[in-house]
Amino acid sequence: MAKRLIQFRLAHYEEVYSAAVSEDILEYCQCRKTETFDVHTTSQGFEEAKQGLDAWKAAMPAEASSWKVSEGNVASSKFGLASSIAGCIHGDGGAVHPYRFVTGLLSKLLERHPDNFFLSCNNPCTSIDPSSPFSRLYTVHTPKGSVTTPHIIHATNGWVSHLVTPLRKKILPLRGTMSTQRPGHDAQR
Ligand SMILES: Cc1cc2nc3c(=O)[nH]c(=O)nc-3n(C[C@H](O)[C@H](O)[C@H](O)COP(=O)(O)OP(=O)(O)OC[C@H]3O[C@@H](n4cnc5c(N)ncnc54)[C@H](O)[C@@H]3O)c2cc1C
Repeated sequence: MAKRLIQFRLAHYEEVYSAAVSEDILEYCQCRKTETFDVHTTSQGFEEAKQGLDAWKAAMPAEASSWKVSEGNVASSKFGLASSIAGCIHGDGGAVHPYRFVTGLLSKLLERHPDNFFLSCNNPCTSIDPSSPFSRLYTVHTPKGSVTTPHIIHATNGWVSHLVTPLRKKILPLRGTMSTQRPGHDAQR
């Protein structure tokens, strides 16, 4: 299952890239290959990560082929990182401008289906009536009205269990932490 999850995640790059090419929004959404770095500041964490990488390379050699280890002094001079780091692990990554990717696709849909494609913004789905033996249609309720439809795609991420109740206690929204760094005036990369 872990292998399937990793393959699923890695497949995202090719899928997003090929959708951007076929919809002619590649330049607009800036989908591209990058290199990604996990930088370790403690030798214990770095050793554990190296063991993890060895295990991954043994289990999935093709998928892990681009991933390499750079020890502290090599990594700091090669990639312009702080001299105090224990080392880093790096390999293929990808980047995209998600807002441009999504709005690029939406504008193509609007061009193709001007009469029956619409976005209902600032309008949460409050509940869904299921299909029944008498009707194969679902009814989606919102503060601005209801829609009947044979198909629903749930894209509500951590909030999915509000509408799909069997997922309660299985998928939970949670808050994470993030930071932004200023590279400073001397950054080479
Ligand atoms: C701080 C932070 C940093 C991140 N950085 C990165 C990064 O650098 N690279 C990366 O690849 N990923 C990153 N991620 C992860 C990435 O943002 C998510 O994986 C991605 O946004 C998930 O997309 P999604 O469309 O599935 O869900 P979301 O973007 O969460 O969208 C779900 C939407 O559903 C709406 N919604 C919920 N309930 C309802 C309802 N009842 N009716 C109508 N609408 C509803 C919500 O308002 C929301 O707009 C980051 C995440 C966080 C929190």
